[in-house]
Amino acid sequence: MAAPPIRTTAKAPGAKLQGMSTAFIGLGAMGYPMAGHLARAFDTLVWNRTPARAQAHAAEFGSAAYELSSLAHADVIFSCLPTSGEVWEVLRALDGQLEPGSVWVDCTSGHPQAAREQAAWLAERGVHFLDAPVSGGTNGAEAGTLTVMVGGDAAVLERVRPRLAFAGKVVHVGPTGAGFAVKAVNNALLAVNLWAAGEGLAALKAGGVDLGAALDVINASSGRSNASENLIGQRVLSREFPATFALGLLAKDVGIALDVVAAHKGAAPLLGSAGGLYRAAERVIGGSEDHTAALKLVEQMNDVELS
Ligand code: NDP
Repeated sequence: MAAPPIRTTAKAPGAKLQGMSTAFIGLGAMGYPMAGHLARAFDTLVWNRTPARAQAHAAEFGSAAYELSSLAHADVIFSCLPTSGEVWEVLRALDGQLEPGSVWVDCTSGHPQAAREQAAWLAERGVHFLDAPVSGGTNGAEAGTLTVMVGGDAAVLERVRPRLAFAGKVVHVGPTGAGFAVKAVNNALLAVNLWAAGEGLAALKAGGVDLGAALDVINASSGRSNASENLIGQRVLSREFPATFALGLLAKDVGIALDVVAAHKGAAPLLGSAGGLYRAAERVIGGSEDHTAALKLVEQMNDVELS
């Protein structure tokens, strides 16, 4: 099938990027709503490995679902895939088709070393690369309030900044790979806070303390965190564990943070412990469970239920 023509006008009247076209690869829990914000503002081409999801996106948001090769002609291509490994697969599938001068914006929580290698590979083909992972979860993606941490050429970021329709905050954090490094460290902190809160609450439960009352105190005190304020009450004590961010993806992020530490011969024994614990939780509890289900392993270790 011949590649369809790409419409080049922005949907919003007076939008700054007329003449540019947008593509989004990977309509998962994050990519689907992120690409929805793009499609509301700009003509947007989408591709997903499972085509039905791209077709659903087109029906819901007015994006255009095409085969992967058609997306190669866009000026700005976003990707949001599980790891940098899947990004490599897509890049290689598009080799020889990408347009010189275009920008590849990878919103995957990827690996800094892969970012440097992919940026070099794309530069040989005249294409710019930004690592631009996001934070804010599926709620932030749906609301269009994600925090985007960007590594790469600041001038290239300024070119595509008006395209980041899913963002509430955009921060340039350094050269290529810095965005992925910041994201990995952020999620390692999430992992540590979540696990530590789980261990503390398990001890309190074993001692007969009401966990709702304990959280009430902690959340008005110096031990509070996003885990105590939001995740544990809404997902663990409720026993709902809604699968919006996979445990396997969080374990992957802690592993990337440990690679960042190792690259600089750093000493981070606490993060190292978190890496082992989350790999164990991924194996015992299941990588496709919600990340908060890691606390089910803490429950098993302490023979209590956090409820
Ligand atoms: P999902 O598992 O929901 O989606 C993964 C997407 O990647 C799907 O579109 C899937 O396609 C596609 N995919 C998987 N393997 C391949 C492949 N080999 N080739 C092509 N496409 C592939 O993940 P999320 O949306 O949750 O996460 C995406 C990224 O965002 C991850 O790096 C994650 O760490 C990060 N992130 C996630 C957050 C969250 O709250 N969920 C928050 C912030 C960052 P298919 O539909 O066919 O399976």
